[in-house]
Amino acid sequence: MWRGLWEEGRDLSELTSVPRSLRDELTHSFPPSLTVLSSVESDRGSTVKWAFRLPDGATVETVLMVYADRVTVCVSSQAGCAMGCTFCATGQAGFTRHLTAGEVLEQVMFAVRAAAPRRVSNVVFMGMGEPLANYAVTSEVLRRLHHDRGMSARHLTVSTVGVAPAIERLAREGLPVTLAVSLHAANDETRSELVPLNRRYPIARLREACETWIDVTGRRVSFEWALIDGVNDTDRSADELAALARPLRAHVNLIPLNPTPGFLVRGSTRERVREFRDELRDRGVAVSVRDTRGRSIAAACGQLAYVTEGRRRPVTLGARRTPDSD
Ligand code: SAH
Ligand code: SF4
Repeated sequence: MWRGLWEEGRDLSELTSVPRSLRDELTHSFPPSLTVLSSVESDRGSTVKWAFRLPDGATVETVLMVYADRVTVCVSSQAGCAMGCTFCATGQAGFTRHLTAGEVLEQVMFAVRAAAPRRVSNVVFMGMGEPLANYAVTSEVLRRLHHDRGMSARHLTVSTVGVAPAIERLAREGLPVTLAVSLHAANDETRSELVPLNRRYPIARLREACETWIDVTGRRVSFEWALIDGVNDTDRSADELAALARPLRAHVNLIPLNPTPGFLVRGSTRERVREFRDELRDRGVAVSVRDTRGRSIAAACGQLAYVTEGRRRPVTLGARRTPDSD
């Protein structure tokens, strides 16, 4: 049963070597935690987003992205998120609860079945929630995927808004996973506006945690940077980011900001994204531009927000409200 369910990713009903009465009993005693509420596809079927209902009625979303050279599942670690980043649809919706390790692993296994015969090669914690705020669950899921399913630790990516002590703790777990830090601004004033947690762990503290990560794991970090028109795409922003990223030899992933209902500032134009990338390159920073799979089905970075209750009032930054945002 272990081999069938976990290693081969099959459904209990397909395990015909197990007596039917036992399968029925197990299905009754251990019903799946995830019920599909909806599924939508984009990019000609190579991106799929599922909304799942959990047994207590909370909802989460999971995204499967099939590429030529890899198959990636983007999982949620919490229903909603308490971090309140102003530009993020999940943050705008607020926090419902932590997920259990089983609920996160079921998302992976659901995607494993949907992707067959392709094998899921990568798991990224970039869905709903802050994985390092649900630390015990995240570390258990990483261990299970690495040790029990044999996934390469490098192919497991934890994306964090910057919970500095948890980054340091994760560094010491002996799991050489990939760490992505959602930076978005390299000065405290702007970052605190975008990412409220920055008031608790400001950039200097975050830098310290990244240094520990690098020292202890021997691995680099990457910085995520969602480009927002006039806010963090200026020449000064490129200078500040380069000054932080270069000594750490961090790789910068630029993400064109995806539109969300509660944030009225525009993403940078495509042209500005390219220019900003070139400015960073000129300043000696390793940089790439993340593609925006699933944008049309609100499955791209930061757009996951099936839970719509408690949505906050739209946010504007300074005077930069876009004239046509209505
Ligand atoms: N809580 C974690 C992981 C989930 S968010 C974190 O914040 O890192 C995954 C990524 O999407 C993060 O890098 C986040 O900053 C980014 N993101 C959030 N809202 C976005 C938006 N509207 N456009 C582009 N990226 C966004
Ligand atoms: Fe939470 Fe990440 Fe969204 Fe911030 S960006 S609100 S930490 S999910």
